[in-house]
Amino acid sequence: MNRLTLKKGREKAILRRHPWIFSGAVKRITGDPAPGETVIIEDAKGQFLAYAAYSPTSQIRARIWSWDEDQSIDPDFFLQRLKSAINLREKWIDKNQTSAYRLVHAESDNLPGLIVDRYNDYLVVQILSAGIERWKAEITQGLASLLNPAGIYERSDVAVRDLEGLPEREGTLFGKSPNRPILISENGLKFKVDLTKGQKTGFYLDQRDNRQFCREISQGKSVLNCFAYTGGFTAYALAGGAESVLSIDSSEEAIHLAKENVLLNQGSLDKCDWIVGDVFEELRTLRDGGCQFDMVILDPPKFAPTASQAKQAARGYKDINLYGFKLLKPGGTLMTFSCSGGIDERFFQKIVADAALDTGVDAQILYRLSQAPDHPTHLAFPEGTYLKGLVIRIGE
Ligand code: SAH
Repeated sequence: MNRLTLKKGREKAILRRHPWIFSGAVKRITGDPAPGETVIIEDAKGQFLAYAAYSPTSQIRARIWSWDEDQSIDPDFFLQRLKSAINLREKWIDKNQTSAYRLVHAESDNLPGLIVDRYNDYLVVQILSAGIERWKAEITQGLASLLNPAGIYERSDVAVRDLEGLPEREGTLFGKSPNRPILISENGLKFKVDLTKGQKTGFYLDQRDNRQFCREISQGKSVLNCFAYTGGFTAYALAGGAESVLSIDSSEEAIHLAKENVLLNQGSLDKCDWIVGDVFEELRTLRDGGCQFDMVILDPPKFAPTASQAKQAARGYKDINLYGFKLLKPGGTLMTFSCSGGIDERFFQKIVADAALDTGVDAQILYRLSQAPDHPTHLAFPEGTYLKGLVIRIGE
């Protein structure tokens, strides 16, 4: 088998079970491995460390499949890994209430580069590494045999694939193509989700528990939901007894679906207002108009996918949080999120603290939120934690 030999001393992260080998750690490649092909990882002395998928174009030159020398990397290996990921969800997701959840969370489920989301009896697959790409047919077959889905749809239409030398791709891999949209349930609420054209794989499944939390604290409140997408937080706030919800998103299609989702759950749009627009501008307009709310939700898109964009992104986060604070009534609640992998929890808290300071509010963190358990973080892979949320109360 082809071999990748590490430079002296560069095996430490691998021994701690971190699954990535960066190009700078590579001393030598023996053989001519194709993209995604399995290679043996060895230390500078030639000692076996792991089996990994080779990725010649990426800075992450290899991603580890297994540390066990006796393990063969074959279709059965993928079947077993899929099974254990599915088992976790069997135990931690209440299927009576929720029909859409993440089945495979890539590195954190020991399948680097593979995302699989379930929406009722459809699966949506996203392939982000050369290794998974190479085993795509076997993985599709494995998912089909384990779960017997109506269809498996690929949403590998993301720019990061370029780093792995992979083109963007989208289409049906197995069975039927999903209807547009399909109807899922989440914590007993109904949502229309467009699996083929929606953002991510259709729905922001990682926010499920945080939306439920929002429902629990919404009674009687006037709510401003920024970056509303298809109305997730809007529908939950209304279900929790919110008095009114103003939802803002720049996507007209998303707001259209958000209205349908509120109608599905509430039967009327009476308590709702909608703005299709840019949150940065609309927050200023609301402030100039003297508007105030009991609760403001800020759930922006990823401003900093990697650490190198963190500084620029910090300005964006500070700006929206500043206006979030300004738009709160005394004693009001801010639910503020960041899903940027490049900004860690401490930094995010500091940005929000700076925003509070500049606004002149006295503010306390009541809760810290993160992604739902179907998006686990493997302890050896802290990068798996990307979603951070703070629930903050300001002084009266
Ligand atoms: N809270 C949502 C997910 C939000 S995703 C949920 O629970 O489902 C981020 C959303 O921000 C997307 O819908 C995107 O269309 C929107 N968006 C991105 N940039 C924006 C901007 N500058 N102004 C308004 N909306 C924006």
